[in-house]
Amino acid sequence: MSDLAAGMEQVLGDGSRVLTQPQMVERLSKDFYWYSPVLKAMLDNKRADVVVQPVNVEEIRAVLQYCHAHEVPVTVRGAGTGNYGQAIPLNGGVVLDLQRMDKIEAIGEDGVAVCEPGVRLGVLETSAREVGWELRCYPSTVAKASLGGFLGGGSGGVGSVKHGGLRDFETVRAIEVVTMESEPRVVKHEGQAVHEILHAWGTNGVITRIWFALAPAVAWSQVVLTFKSFDEAFNFSERIATDATWDKRLITVFEWPLPSYFGPVKQLVREGEASVFFLIADAQMDTLREVADEAGAAVMLAQPYAGLRSQPLLSDYTWNHTTLWAMKADPTYTYLQCGFSPERAREQFALLKSRYGEDFLLHIEWMKNGQGVMIPGAIPVVRFSTEERLNEMIDYCREIGVFVANPHVNHVEGGGRYREDNVQLQAKYKYDAKGLMNPGKMASFARRQALEEQPA
Ligand SMILES: Cc1cc2nc3c(=O)[nH]c(=O)nc-3n(C[C@H](O)[C@H](O)[C@H](O)COP(=O)(O)OP(=O)(O)OC[C@H]3O[C@@H](n4cnc5c(N)ncnc54)[C@H](O)[C@@H]3O)c2cc1C
Repeated sequence: MSDLAAGMEQVLGDGSRVLTQPQMVERLSKDFYWYSPVLKAMLDNKRADVVVQPVNVEEIRAVLQYCHAHEVPVTVRGAGTGNYGQAIPLNGGVVLDLQRMDKIEAIGEDGVAVCEPGVRLGVLETSAREVGWELRCYPSTVAKASLGGFLGGGSGGVGSVKHGGLRDFETVRAIEVVTMESEPRVVKHEGQAVHEILHAWGTNGVITRIWFALAPAVAWSQVVLTFKSFDEAFNFSERIATDATWDKRLITVFEWPLPSYFGPVKQLVREGEASVFFLIADAQMDTLREVADEAGAAVMLAQPYAGLRSQPLLSDYTWNHTTLWAMKADPTYTYLQCGFSPERAREQFALLKSRYGEDFLLHIEWMKNGQGVMIPGAIPVVRFSTEERLNEMIDYCREIGVFVANPHVNHVEGGGRYREDNVQLQAKYKYDAKGLMNPGKMASFARRQALEEQPA
């Protein structure tokens, strides 16, 4: 047994939660990084030395105290569904796997859930709906993903068309984090201070407790429409997205042939046609059918939503699950994460299609931004040939005014959700001055550290 594993056993006093078996360590060191051919090549051979599974805050503090004293890197893991290689340790050390800290402590009458970080979002959504609430937004990986991982590495998803992303509208009310210091502290962040920790990829502390605002539960329906052309589908989706009288949780538009990749729901698509998937208030389903009919759409599905057990569950084909289905069908596909301009979207689509044709397939996810503006967000599926061509696509998108959060880089800053005010970096200086938390993932810190370490 390595000194590190022995040290961890001593710290936890329980060897069964210190994992060293190579296949287990390999599995728990990896996430969905292989979504990106660039990250796949970069991260394939990275793994931890040992995985530790704490069950409470005191154990986390003890692990961090040991690692601080012995200069051991620590990478926090929720469920490992991130797709930027966020949870993959670049320098070995400890993976701190929080799956055993999965309690929902309370769902208050004010609609705020208090949770441990390892709680699965699907469990929280189902529990919340039982008492009249639901998640404001969640990733399409809801069944598996953890709340701590969503805050650490996610941004939004189903529900963002109504409630914006994770960073918006005070959805995250407060967070407690454990610091990486000689005497690790538990620090509570409330209000604006939560932004120091949100989407920092576990580089500046371990989230151990979350106050998460929910929304009143709505009876939803799932609806699938198909249209002869992408333009018609987009026009219709825009009409519903931008009209506040429609109560909606999901509006997704797919260019053909993307729907052809959705094997289990093939009966919901039509050869050559574009599709729109909705979660819409059940009370508005019939009206939606009527306006869809007038707009020349075919209604392929219209049924009440029965929670995450619904069959089919449309969210399984939306957000980044769309990419998964496409990659299953054709491994040369990968993806980008974009935001089109509400005013120029049609012109931007035309420019991209004329330049890349079938190599750039449009997949739109409508979402509200922090200012309440409805944005045609997008996760286009793109053909990968070389990294240079992928970068050229990203450059071209930016040139024509399309925002890109580049999912083919492995640091917080490059991913496009970095905050200009640098509060995440400031928090890293406060809580992890030695740079032991997920080292290498906050590029601005790594650069400063390298400069300081250079001989005078
Ligand atoms: C098919 C597919 C679809 C997806 N769809 C979406 C989507 O719609 N929206 C979206 O936002 N994301 C999406 N993702 C990305 C990812 O699934 C989500 O962001 C998810 O919420 C991550 O949760 P996790 O528990 O798996 O986190 P992990 O992958 O385990 O961790 C993510 C990051 O957070 C850090 N972290 C984890 N726990 C903590 C903690 N307690 N304290 C501090 N840092 C922590 C990790 O170190 C890592 O950097 C998708 C991914 C896939 C593969």
